Amino acid sequence: MADGFLEHLRGVLSGIEAEGLVKRERFIEGAQGAHVTVGGRSMLNLCANNYLGLADDPRLIAAAEVAMRGHGFGMASVRFICGTQDIHAALEARLAQFLGMEAAILFGSCFDANGGLFEPLLGEEDAIISDSLNHASIIDGVRLCKARRYRYANSDMADLAAQLVKARAEGARYILVATDGVFSMDGYLAKLKEIRVLADKFDAIVMVDDCHATGFIGPQGRGTPAHAGVKVDILTGTLGKALGGALGGYVAASAPVVDLLRQRARPYLFSNALPPAVVGAALAALDIVEAADTQRAQLFENAHYWRAGLAGLGFRLLAGEHPIIPVMMGEAPLAQAFARALDARGVMVSAFFFPVVPRGAARIRTQMNAALTRADLDFALAAFAEAGRETGVLA
Ligand SMILES: *Cc1c(COP(=O)(O)O)cnc(C)c1O
Repeated sequence: MADGFLEHLRGVLSGIEAEGLVKRERFIEGAQGAHVTVGGRSMLNLCANNYLGLADDPRLIAAAEVAMRGHGFGMASVRFICGTQDIHAALEARLAQFLGMEAAILFGSCFDANGGLFEPLLGEEDAIISDSLNHASIIDGVRLCKARRYRYANSDMADLAAQLVKARAEGARYILVATDGVFSMDGYLAKLKEIRVLADKFDAIVMVDDCHATGFIGPQGRGTPAHAGVKVDILTGTLGKALGGALGGYVAASAPVVDLLRQRARPYLFSNALPPAVVGAALAALDIVEAADTQRAQLFENAHYWRAGLAGLGFRLLAGEHPIIPVMMGEAPLAQAFARALDARGVMVSAFFFPVVPRGAARIRTQMNAALTRADLDFALAAFAEAGRETGVLA
């Protein structure tokens, strides 16, 4: 390889380092959970998407084992060649039923679901209007599609209305409005009621990515549309967060949408089928989640207690109800120093900074889950208070 090229990459890396933007991985020695072991040390974990605490649930491990024994380890095929088992079809039907949609289709991840969704459905005569804070996978998926692109400021309904007017005036055949159900950096919920009303006024399709909601927001965890009491047209989501946290994504929608994706979505056609263990465990996860009112109540009680505790200590938070509770820091190096001070006290958090959030809006994104106890939260609050004073985040 040309020395110049590697030298160039080293230069880019030193730039990232100099700006304090390096992301370093910690090696967890054992299962994901409220408590994890890192370097032989037990740590309290406040940064997993493990909202219902199912990532190490024995029922899911057992279901994965049963599926693996009965259906093998891997599929060695994409779905349409010879990679579809009875349990893949069962999971797609179960997801559709759980989400109140006509049909569903599995992908290797929600990143793939969003990446493959738009291009087969819309053409250059059409328009996609996307929230400015949508997940990277929606942005990439929209880029891969020939439809004209419009953007509205995060949850700004006047701007959305203006973009709808513009798309119609510019002659769009079909218009699709795309939004995250929950904006993952802030924990804000999309204004689905207003979006639905506006979309109907302009005869537009509504697509929602509900990764940070499915399983714990809305009645029986059916997500932000159920929470808002509205129907959306296309729902995407992940098996990699509240539903056990392994991997896998899906699109749920009307049958023609799903049927066409099965024929044309490139990540579906050209990437391997989900392994049986993941599929079997996801079926078990949906049964557990549907009946998990107690865990959902615990999750939101934890979120309330944690939010109140942090606010009481004087930390700057963003308003909201979601178990994503960002603690605002400002510049990336301060967020990193704060995360290190917590690490030294046995609390694992993650600092988020550019390019994941805007420059100057670095934060510690804390996330609650149902497996955290009151004692865990009190321990974490004490650590946050000490780290806050040590780093100067708190006066
Ligand atoms: C996590 C997330 C994804 C990606 O999901 P994977 O299944 O991990 O690929 C997509 N969209 C949103 C909003 C997410 O939070």
